[in-house]
Amino acid sequence: MSHPEPQSSSFDAIVVGARVAGSAVAIMLSRRGLKTLLVDKAAFPSDTISTHIVLAGGRRVLERLGALEHLERAGAHRYERMRVLGQGYDYAVDLRSENEDLRGFCLGRTAMDAAMVALARASGAVVRERFRVTDLVIEDGAVAGIRGEDGAGRHEFHAPLVVGADGMRSTVARIAEARLGAFERTEVPCARAYYYAYFENIGTAHYGDDLVTELDAAPGQGAILCRCENGRAVAAVAFEAAAMRSFRTNLEGNLRRELSRSLAVGSLVAGGRIAGRIYSSGLLLNTYRKPVAEGALLAGDAGLHVDPLFGQGHSLALMSAEIIGELAPGWFSARSGRVIGAAAMNEYALRRDRLLMSYYNASVRTSRALTHDPMMRAAHLVAQREPWAALEMARLGQMTLDGAAFPTFRFARMLARQTRAA
Ligand SMILES: Cc1cc2nc3c(=O)[nH]c(=O)nc-3n(C[C@H](O)[C@H](O)[C@H](O)COP(=O)(O)OP(=O)(O)OC[C@H]3O[C@@H](n4cnc5c(N)ncnc54)[C@H](O)[C@@H]3O)c2cc1C
Repeated sequence: MSHPEPQSSSFDAIVVGARVAGSAVAIMLSRRGLKTLLVDKAAFPSDTISTHIVLAGGRRVLERLGALEHLERAGAHRYERMRVLGQGYDYAVDLRSENEDLRGFCLGRTAMDAAMVALARASGAVVRERFRVTDLVIEDGAVAGIRGEDGAGRHEFHAPLVVGADGMRSTVARIAEARLGAFERTEVPCARAYYYAYFENIGTAHYGDDLVTELDAAPGQGAILCRCENGRAVAAVAFEAAAMRSFRTNLEGNLRRELSRSLAVGSLVAGGRIAGRIYSSGLLLNTYRKPVAEGALLAGDAGLHVDPLFGQGHSLALMSAEIIGELAPGWFSARSGRVIGAAAMNEYALRRDRLLMSYYNASVRTSRALTHDPMMRAAHLVAQREPWAALEMARLGQMTLDGAAFPTFRFARMLARQTRAA
């Protein structure tokens, strides 16, 4: 893609990182009339590590953004059912009913992120690819811009708001933390590591339009399977992170071995051919950061990074981006100083945490233990027997409970009501 040179070095907002979170923020800010610069060190189309299942919670944000149709044109595959397996349970839920659409989709990052960047550009954002942010402009104890470099040399850009949407190893967060003590963080290592690959020539008669997720075939193990674009399926396995080093010695053999130990995913991909390379997550952290600072905020993985076990990262990123899109115009119209202050943006921190912390906390619990939360296991066992409970677990799995903690009082109330009625 070509890079139109920005005419000015001053913007209303600068967004660092142009994938799920960054593009979504840039689209929303640009559409609200804010002059927005979106930069990324990558050039799109560009792949990144991720099994790229977008749950219904994230799909709804993309729908509201008008992005879904673009992603469908780029090949997004909508899954229609969710099959959930674990020790003692195996149930499937139809995700579309008259009243509710719990379907998400699956689309490789190369296609997805390129479509999002194109939409950001079409929405009016100035996009600079191959631009690496190396430092922040700090003035009077606040972030006031970015410094970075591309093929044409070093550049400096200024804005009252800098958004760090630059992923789990965020440069914006790291530099603001080091220089301003901002973006306070807590980190919990993930106990699992992940490998995934694309499979060709698997008869879809095997798994149809299912998103297949399974947990705990053995301690630490999990697996996921979903169709994506070009007739391929993506399959991933999770296993204890301590086994990572030995896994690397024979990637395909070990991936196939782990899949063969799974409850269903292994047999579903058994006849398939691995297309391309095998991808690895490396060792991961759950990271919570306070997402606001003087002149800057964090979106997506940069501010809240979870264990990929439940495929929630995109949806968390999109949901946090949508809150920023809603609140930002108010920050700009009420601004009195040179930058947007942390106090003004605190509502973002509160709303993000209200909506997303239950997922983060569940991720931390999952990341500490190698076996599934007993409460969740009990809920799955109920779901195995009771369609209402299966539907409620699908709502949880698809992130449409709008911040309700889980196991929810709602679930307990539903269980009590059903028991009374029986
Ligand atoms: C193995 C694995 C499987 C996963 N599977 C799923 C899944 O199925 N579903 C799901 O929802 N999530 C999944 N995730 C998580 C998901 O990939 C992330 O949550 C999501 O990518 C977060 O998006 P983001 O926009 O916040 O950050 P990222 O996608 O990480 O994008 C950050 C961008 O910032 C850019 N950047 C970084 N530093 C700089 C810099 N200094 N200068 C300029 N640009 C910079 C990078 O080039 C990058 O393009 C998975 C993650 C892993 C590791």
